[in-house]
Amino acid sequence: MTRTSGWPSGRLASLHEELAVASDGDRDTEIDVVSPVTGETYVQVPEATATEVATAVETAREASEAWRERDVAERTAVLDEFADRVLAEQSTLRDLVQRETGKSRRDAAEEVFDVAVTAGYYADTAADTLASERRQGAVPGAIRATVHHHPVGVVGLIAPWNYPLTLAISDALPALAAGNGVVCKPAEETTHVALYARRLLVEAGLPPELFQVVSGRGPEVGPPLVEAVDYVSFTGSTAAGRQVAAQAGEQLVPTSMELGGKNPLLVLDDADPEEAARRSVRSCFANAGQLCITTERLYVHEDVYEPFRAAFAEAVGEITLGFDYEWRAEMGPLLSRAQFEKTREHVEDAVANGATVVAGGEPRPDLGPFFHEPTVLEDVTADAVAHETETFGPVVSLYPVESVDEAVARANDTDYGLHGAVWAGDVERGEAVARRLETGTVSVNEGYAAAWASLDAPMGGRGDSGLGRRHGAEGLLRYTAAQTVATGRALQLDPGPVPDRLWAAGLTTVARLLRKVPKWVK
Ligand code: NAD
Repeated sequence: MTRTSGWPSGRLASLHEELAVASDGDRDTEIDVVSPVTGETYVQVPEATATEVATAVETAREASEAWRERDVAERTAVLDEFADRVLAEQSTLRDLVQRETGKSRRDAAEEVFDVAVTAGYYADTAADTLASERRQGAVPGAIRATVHHHPVGVVGLIAPWNYPLTLAISDALPALAAGNGVVCKPAEETTHVALYARRLLVEAGLPPELFQVVSGRGPEVGPPLVEAVDYVSFTGSTAAGRQVAAQAGEQLVPTSMELGGKNPLLVLDDADPEEAARRSVRSCFANAGQLCITTERLYVHEDVYEPFRAAFAEAVGEITLGFDYEWRAEMGPLLSRAQFEKTREHVEDAVANGATVVAGGEPRPDLGPFFHEPTVLEDVTADAVAHETETFGPVVSLYPVESVDEAVARANDTDYGLHGAVWAGDVERGEAVARRLETGTVSVNEGYAAAWASLDAPMGGRGDSGLGRRHGAEGLLRYTAAQTVATGRALQLDPGPVPDRLWAAGLTTVARLLRKVPKWVK
């Protein structure tokens, strides 16, 4: 039997109890949330006032005082339990993610997987990463230097709608493991996923005050949040990221910025064109192209261009467009009218500027107001908006290239630097080309999943794609303040009443000796 509805509005509204700060009475704005599938309003979310945001941060801060004193093992036990609960409730989570985003069941399943493995990863590694460590002191043996990693306090997490479970929660988990409180502002379209995940965290043993969710629109709720927190973890567009970073910079609050991209994929002349084409489809059209690391530009060597183009167009034409709570539809609608119109404009503008449609190209109002066919363009000229600007929709451009050097140069000819992909017959050659791409991550003979899911390795952007890194030790240590404690033991560096010339001569001797001391001598 076909299931037609994942979460009725009544059940969604009941999740509002998870909004940790009750209304202060001044709240008068309710935001209509529109279904990506039908285009109709199906629920409202409240917009938090500045006072409510400040209260949420204060509450999380108070709770963090006790949380930071707990053993790391106690904190990570909560993450461990959370991972189990996420997997146990995966069907419910997939329903909710699909309800809010319209994405396919498979795309929703990838979010569940991501959150579960991220929780498990930090549960396993946080204690080692956070352990205090000896470093070489000023005079090895005589001065002892130890580095401690303290939580920063309260992390403000601002998340987008495209991967609402992953991006509201996966960056929060290392912050919590490090001993911080978190106040999360999800995108207004996808508040309920964050609220449900918070419920699971609390059921897993997290003190309820420690993780707060505040709902509302970015320009209203973002500034008071940034104003009050000790760290800002932002994921979203480059334009909004600049505004958030400017405010954080004014306050000297550290940030990480995970922003947009115009990601290239290179097909080298020794790649199998049919296989590369078949396996590139998901790199381009996962989540209807609404994924920061999906491909929007394909540079294909001219020797393999024709077979690649033919196989790619055929495979894209076979994508099943639609929406269901089962596993049939492969690609859903765009999230909103704005996303749909941007996609439409990019295709129409590219065609008006000389591009040819190789596959797709049309809206699908028969399926719903925001459905658009997965679209492949070629002959996209430099005048077209889609040439350089992120579409963040199901539109990719094919470009034939004469050489690897040309492919690399064109791939790097962008202000962005988030993710790249390389298809090669010779893997070593593919990895060498990957190192020439000016992006934070590159997948070789893979689309995007390899780079994203390698959780032990840092991930992030260069240039307009962002600052800082998530995942790995870097993704945890960003939420800490490093403190060095240096202790004089057998020696005082303050020379006392020694003549300056003698002191300088002594320093010269020590400088020479220090260069001979191996770094492992502490
Ligand atoms: P967006 O920037 O409009 O919104 C992201 C979040 O920021 C939302 O919660 C929004 O309410 C909030 N926001 C908006 N303006 C704000 C402001 N002035 N102050 C504070 N908060 C504000 O982005 P979006 O449309 O939701 O997401 C799409 C963009 O996000 C794309 O550019 C995509 O590439 C990028 N993205 C990047 C990554 C990454 O990891 N690099 C991941 C997902 C999405």
